[in-house]
Amino acid sequence: MALIVQKYGGSSVGSVERIQAVAQRVYKTVKAGNSVVVVVSAMGKTTDGLVKLAHEISKNPNRREMDMLLSTGEQVSIAVVSMALDELGQPAISLTGAQVGIVTEAEHTRARILDIKTDRLKRHLKEGKVVVVAGFQGISSLEEWEITTLGRGGSDTSAVALAAALRADFCEIYTDVPGILTTDPRLVPEAQLMEEITSDEMLELASLGAKVLHPRAVEIARNYGVPLVVRSSWTDQPGTWVTSPKPQERSLLNLEIARPVDDVQFDTDQAKVALLRVPDKPGVAARLFGEIARQNVDVDLIIQSIHEGNTNDIAFTVTTPILKRAEAVAAAIAPALRSQKSAESTEAEVMVQQEIAKISISGAGMIGRPGVAAQMFITLAEAGVNIQMISTSEVKVSCVVDAAQCDRAIAALREAFEIEDEETGRQRDKETRGQGRNSFPPSAHPPVRGVALDMNQARLAIRQVPDRAGMAAKLFGLLAQHNISVDMIIQSQRCRIVDGIPRRDIAFTVARMDGEAAKKMLQQAAEEFGWGEVVLDNAIAKVSIVGAGMVGQPGVAAKMFEAIAQHQINIQMIATSEIKISCVVDQEQGVKALQVIHAAFGLAGTEKFVVPA
Ligand code: ADP
Ligand code: ASP
Ligand code: MG
Repeated sequence: MALIVQKYGGSSVGSVERIQAVAQRVYKTVKAGNSVVVVVSAMGKTTDGLVKLAHEISKNPNRREMDMLLSTGEQVSIAVVSMALDELGQPAISLTGAQVGIVTEAEHTRARILDIKTDRLKRHLKEGKVVVVAGFQGISSLEEWEITTLGRGGSDTSAVALAAALRADFCEIYTDVPGILTTDPRLVPEAQLMEEITSDEMLELASLGAKVLHPRAVEIARNYGVPLVVRSSWTDQPGTWVTSPKPQERSLLNLEIARPVDDVQFDTDQAKVALLRVPDKPGVAARLFGEIARQNVDVDLIIQSIHEGNTNDIAFTVTTPILKRAEAVAAAIAPALRSQKSAESTEAEVMVQQEIAKISISGAGMIGRPGVAAQMFITLAEAGVNIQMISTSEVKVSCVVDAAQCDRAIAALREAFEIEDEETGRQRDKETRGQGRNSFPPSAHPPVRGVALDMNQARLAIRQVPDRAGMAAKLFGLLAQHNISVDMIIQSQRCRIVDGIPRRDIAFTVARMDGEAAKKMLQQAAEEFGWGEVVLDNAIAKVSIVGAGMVGQPGVAAKMFEAIAQHQINIQMIATSEIKISCVVDQEQGVKALQVIHAAFGLAGTEKFVVPA
C-alpha cells in the first residue's frame, strides 16, 4: 500500500465527463490498496476568466483581492470532485488550503510555501477518505487566514509540496499531454515523449518556457527527493519520471525558502576569447562556432550581445590548455567578419584574456529569488572584485573574474552564503577545478533533451555603465528589491571611454510583465549614477536547448546556431550555462526557430501528438 498524491490540471477537470473520469481513476487507485490525496486546479480556463474579470474592473487590481478572487476557482473543483467520488461510493472530503493548513509567505499572488500542517490530512486518510485539496492556494498565517496564491501554474507546486510534507511514496501530475515531451507539442506536433528526465534538466526546461511543470514543483521534488511523474489523464500510459539524486535530509519547515545556496565553486583554469565588432546579421555565430567545433574545441560559457551601431561582441571561455587552438580559430575567421562602419568596413578584433577564474554559486533554492544573484554581486563588490562575465541558470550563477582575485572572492562568498570552509569543501573544488563544464555527471542521453520557447520575455539594455566593481551589484540589487528576476545577463566585451571613465553596455532579459517597471526604475537609477540610455524591447522570443549531455561535448552550440542561421534568423543575444544554451531572436521568428532547432537535433518523431481540445 502506498500513499500517492495525484494532481489534476485545469483541462483534466474541465467538464463533467472529465471530472467523472478523474473520480474513476482515483477510485481505482484506492481500490488497488493505496491512500490518495488529490490536488486539483480550477476547471478549464476558469483562472484566466477571473483574471480578465478583475482587469475589467481595475487596471491594477489590488493583489490581496486578486488572491481572494483567483482562489475561488479551485474551491469549485474540490467540491465537485469530492461529489463525483461520493457518487462512486468512495468517501471523500474537500479541503481548501486554509483548512489543510498550507502556510505561505504573506506575498500575495506569488507566495512561497513555508509549512504544511499534516494532522488533519492524516486523520481523514486514516478514516479511509480521499482528501481533495485545492491547489495554488494557502494562507499567510494561522491567525489571520489571509488567502494567498502561489503564482500561475502553482497547483503543481501545491501537489509536490504536499507529497514532501506527507512523505508520500510518489506524486503524479495528470495533464493533457502524455508526459514531458522534447518540446511543446502544440508548436511542434512531432515532439517525442521522454521516459525520464533529470530534475536539473527539467528545472531549466520549466523555467525557460515549458509550462508542463511549474519550476518550483521541480525544485521541491529535487530538494526533498519526491518521486515525480507527469502523465495524461486521458490514457493509462506510464508518462515521464523526473529523477533526482538522493538529497540530504532537510527540514520541512520553510519548505520553499530553505537555504538558497548549497555550494560555492571555482575554476581557475579558464581563458576568455572575445571577438569585438562582428556584424549583426544571421550566420555569424554559426560560422564562428561551426569552425570551433570542427577543431574539436569545447567551449564553456558563450555570450553575445548587440550594440549601438549594430555590431556585436561574442565572447567565450575555454580551458587554458586549448586556448591556443581557440585563439587561432578566432583569428583565422576575424578578417571575414567585416562590419560596415559609416563608409569604411572594419574587421572584427580578437581579444584574449588569460588568468581569469570562473566562480559559481549553486543551489535549487535560488529559483525565482532574484535577491540571491544580487547578493552574489554585492558580496563581490564589497570584496572589490570586478565582474567580467556573468552566466545565469536557474540553479547557478557564475561570474568570470580576474584569477588574482579568486581566493578573495571565494572567501567572501562562502561567508555570505554560510558555506562551510572545511576540508571537504576544498576537496570538492579541487575535483571540479580545471574541468570546465564538469559539475554535472556524464549523461547517457543525447546532448540535447529538450527545446523550449519563452514568448513572455523582454530585453533591457543599459548603455555606458561604468566598468568598475559594484555596478552589477547596484543594478541587480535594485531589480531584486522590486522582486524582478533577470536572466541572460550580458556585459559587452568592449570598453568605451566616456568622460574619462571606461564603460560597457549591459543587457539582460526579464519577464515581459516586469519590463516597464524595470525600465522606469533603471531610468531613475541611470540619472542618479550617470549611466547612459535604457532601452526596452518587448518583441523578443527566447529559444533554449537543455541537456546534461552537452557537458564536454564540442559542437552543440554550433549546431544550434547553424540551424537558426540556415533560416535567416538573426541572433540578438546568446547566453549559456552548463546545461543550456539560450538565444534571443525576433519575436515573430520564435516559433520557427524552435521548430528548426528541434529538427536539427533529431528530436522529432514520426508520430504526431494532438493535444485534446
Ligand atoms: P495543466 O492545466 O494540466 O496544469 P498546463 O497547460 O499547465 O496543464 O501544461 C500542459 C501544457 O504544457 C501542454 O498542453 C503543452 O502545450 C505545454 N508544454 C510546453 N512544453 C511542453 C513539453 N516539453 N512537454 C509537454 N508539454 C509541454
Ligand atoms: N488555476 C491556477 C492557474 O491557472 C493554478 C494552476 O492551474 O496550476 O494558474
Ligand atoms: Mg499547469
